[in-house]
Amino acid sequence: MIFAANFKTNHTRASTKEYLLALESLAQKSSDEFYIFPPISALCSSASKITIGSQNAYPVNNGAFTGEIGLEQLEEFGIKTILIGHSERRVLLGESQEFIAKKFEFFKNNDFKIIYCIGEPLEVRKEGELKVIEFLAEQFNAIDINYENLIIAYEPIWAIGTGVSATNDQIALTHKAIKKICNKPLLYGGSVNSSNIKNVLATQNVDGVLVGSASLDVQNFFNLSK
Ligand code: PEP
Repeated sequence: MIFAANFKTNHTRASTKEYLLALESLAQKSSDEFYIFPPISALCSSASKITIGSQNAYPVNNGAFTGEIGLEQLEEFGIKTILIGHSERRVLLGESQEFIAKKFEFFKNNDFKIIYCIGEPLEVRKEGELKVIEFLAEQFNAIDINYENLIIAYEPIWAIGTGVSATNDQIALTHKAIKKICNKPLLYGGSVNSSNIKNVLATQNVDGVLVGSASLDVQNFFNLSK
């Protein structure tokens, strides 16, 4: 199973270092895969089985893009993994599908492992499963679904950070449909925590989880895999 921690704008460079050391020791004997996505100021190299990824980067080597980092800054730490398409970047930062696809292409061409996030807002979910799939299918526009280094994360926007996870039936139905579009490892994300993790992981076509709030404490995050 894959366990990915998205710190968002939480943790510092110092606390990320402590977190990484603790996770390395906890996960030593685990056969699961662990990824952490710290804030950009806390990016660092990892020589262990824990993969460090970037929550974001601009699709350039370097250049005049104030406030952004590019490939050169990621390469300094040997970072070869990136989150693309997270709903907070789509909605709060206004990233269009066109721009997201450009980012995808750039990091694909640089052999990154891409965790590509998709998810529908509540108003679409209320219209039923068919509308949800239509909406999600559009988030694959101009995305190379055959890219070998691709992991998909299905994260319904209404479930992110709300404490209201999708039900097992919703996850099962939606994941089945996503797998038909793109047959890649598929994570579920959206209020995953210690109370629902067993059911989420037992759901068909769930290959792991992308976790926000419940990943911020390292022991809590690791316990999700037990
Ligand atoms: C996320 O934003 O990727 C996420 C899954 O957050 P949370 O677990 O807090 O819902």
